[in-house]
Amino acid sequence: MFQKVLIANRGEIALRIQRACRELGIPTVAVHSTADATAMHVRLADESVCIGPPAARDSYLNIPSILSAAAITGADAIHPGYGFLSENAKFAEMVEAHGLTFIGPAPAHIRMMGDKIAAKAAMAGLGVPLVPGSDGGVADLAAAREVAARIGYPVLVKAAAGGGGRGMKVARAPDQLEEAFRTARAEAAAAFGNDAVYLEKYLDRPRHIEFQILADNHGAVVHFGERDCSLQRRHQKLLEEAGSPALSADDRARMGRTVTAALARLGYRNAGTLEFLYQDGQFAFIEMNTRLQVEHPVTEMLCGIDLVREQLRVAAGEPLGYTQDEIAFTGHAIECRVTAEHPETFTPSPGKVTAFHAPGGLGVRVDSALYAGYVVPPFYDSMVAKLIVHAPTRADAIARLRRALDEFAVLGIETTLPLHRRIVDAPAFQRGDYTIHWLEDFVQAAPG
Ligand code: ADP
Repeated sequence: MFQKVLIANRGEIALRIQRACRELGIPTVAVHSTADATAMHVRLADESVCIGPPAARDSYLNIPSILSAAAITGADAIHPGYGFLSENAKFAEMVEAHGLTFIGPAPAHIRMMGDKIAAKAAMAGLGVPLVPGSDGGVADLAAAREVAARIGYPVLVKAAAGGGGRGMKVARAPDQLEEAFRTARAEAAAAFGNDAVYLEKYLDRPRHIEFQILADNHGAVVHFGERDCSLQRRHQKLLEEAGSPALSADDRARMGRTVTAALARLGYRNAGTLEFLYQDGQFAFIEMNTRLQVEHPVTEMLCGIDLVREQLRVAAGEPLGYTQDEIAFTGHAIECRVTAEHPETFTPSPGKVTAFHAPGGLGVRVDSALYAGYVVPPFYDSMVAKLIVHAPTRADAIARLRRALDEFAVLGIETTLPLHRRIVDAPAFQRGDYTIHWLEDFVQAAPG
């Protein structure tokens, strides 16, 4: 096992990784920007190193600074968390070139899945069903027109390097294609420095269902079931559940077999998530994330496992030590992402947290780096807490979530807690009857 792990991240996910390391008896090194000197992940770490000024590109994305911090402190492994450098193949390569272990997949697989065109081609070759679309990239408008005519409108123009819902534009009819194509390309070039785009059929009422997988370095691959992440705003997840209200145990087992077989053939290692759209009983792959995800706790609650501990174990070369049959799915779990934003306008609301009270009790988990007196800086992602509940049935989990949301107090800044309280009371949510488009309409409707 590792002697010391450097955590190249901040906020709740840095704490999450520290907790797993501490339980394994592994000391941790926190890195932080000057804006985060008093952050909880720094306070709770065994050691900490300041790696630069507030802007992420100068600190949390500053590869030489992070590698120097690892060298100075004698860390032998780096966990990247999610976001920042977690899907940067070059970083993973440099970590390994410095004789350290990157706690994640091989750089080649990060690179492959980071290009969604390459990812789709690879998955098709491994027998995973895809969303109908272009065969590779579309170089110009004429090519886009041809593909759109073949697959039928509406179509979605997507950035090959896309992430965070950016570089994605819908064309509902032929006269909208030119604008969608141009704006998706421009947005992709600005956001990712890469204007390659491809086309997909735009599905009108799918659910977003993703499978969590874990592979050791010896060829064993298991899945921990699915998460339903259909509740999204601007293609960004707000609330996730495991299992999906739309899936049967048979569907889960069938798709689970497909994804584990595909990743075994690929020779993938460590944790990963395959994302699908699910409509009319059909799964269609959209992308793979080669890292731990924000919503991993719902899977942990459902399966009773510590995914970060598992990542550390397999990265250190240990075999999985269990088979698919030994993984049980018990009860139901739901996660709410709480952001420092106005619950109706979504205007960012950084600033001082004057009071903080986290809910508790049976089946309630709060992953957050907030504390009373903490000042949420304006420089980073607005997510400040994740509230996760687990209960024997979905109805029990919803009752528990409502109770926990009522107890949760974050004062001094605006948060999306009131929006989550509205969602749990919505009949469509309670029935589990929603698609990826439902929340967008729901947030537009006036509260009350
Ligand atoms: P990103 O990497 O930017 O998150 P994804 O490909 O994962 O992009 O898609 C994000 C979300 O956008 C999906 O969860 C879904 O809600 C929506 N989406 C993506 N592809 C399609 C599609 N072909 N049809 C309808 N919605 C889609």
